Amino acid sequence: MKRVLLLGGTGDALAIARGLSATHVYSLAGLARVPDDLACAVRVGGFGGVDGLVAYLGAERIGLVVDATHPYAAQMSRHAREACAIANVPLWAVRRPEWQAQTGDDWREARDWRGVVERIAEFHRPLFTLGREPLAHLDEIPASQHWTIRCLDAHPGNARATIVDARGPFTPEGERALFDAARIDVVISKNSGGRATEAKLAVARERGMPVVMLARPELPDADRAFDDASSARDALTQLNHET
Ligand code: NAP
Repeated sequence: MKRVLLLGGTGDALAIARGLSATHVYSLAGLARVPDDLACAVRVGGFGGVDGLVAYLGAERIGLVVDATHPYAAQMSRHAREACAIANVPLWAVRRPEWQAQTGDDWREARDWRGVVERIAEFHRPLFTLGREPLAHLDEIPASQHWTIRCLDAHPGNARATIVDARGPFTPEGERALFDAARIDVVISKNSGGRATEAKLAVARERGMPVVMLARPELPDADRAFDDASSARDALTQLNHET
């Protein structure tokens, strides 16, 4: 049986981890909740760059790496690609397809944080769903704006910013309530794909509200790529029956 190192930190990864036996390892960066109900081993924290990961793969006799990190966790994905090439370990990846704009959507692409700031200049009540990044800019909020920032951790905010700590999946009803309560007039999003956080896009669409979409980083190729957790799980089950 090939020993699997699963790189996680997403709902997809957790769904795959739930199907792994004690032989395998689920790895987390350590920013979010660490599950304590898995059969597989769980390790937490960075590997120490490409060199550290190469050393880890050898020391732990890993036979397959599965990259199920978030599509915007590009550094970890690049390190995994490089380390697997050096250590001659196959790399599989879950690469969630991007959301596609539908009729009625008003999406405006931003390439980086500066682009986001430019795109939202004409609005007053933005909802940020980018994770922590906006927290580093709380002192730069223009007088004409009040920011609502949704992220995983509680944070005090300030007179111009309200931080909402919440974890998906989110429902259209919940998103409508948040949009109303915070009087949101523009949404800022990563193009994460998947179901868990897409309700905000549907609610923006029904309200004719613009969405500023932060472009995805480029991700390296994997030896096998899957659109979702269930197809990766099926392939792992098949692999472990074969080996
Ligand atoms: P990143 O920029 O690609 O990675 C930064 C560093 O964190 C990596 O170089 C690595 O450190 C360590 N790291 C990342 N994922 C790891 C994992 N699964 N196991 C062990 N070390 C890991 O990643 P990020 O954007 O900060 O995301 C960190 C974690 O949060 C990832 O697990 C990701 O799946 C999850 N997450 C990210 C987002 C997002 O929008 N970026 C959203 C939801 C969840 P070393 O170089 O020392 O190995």
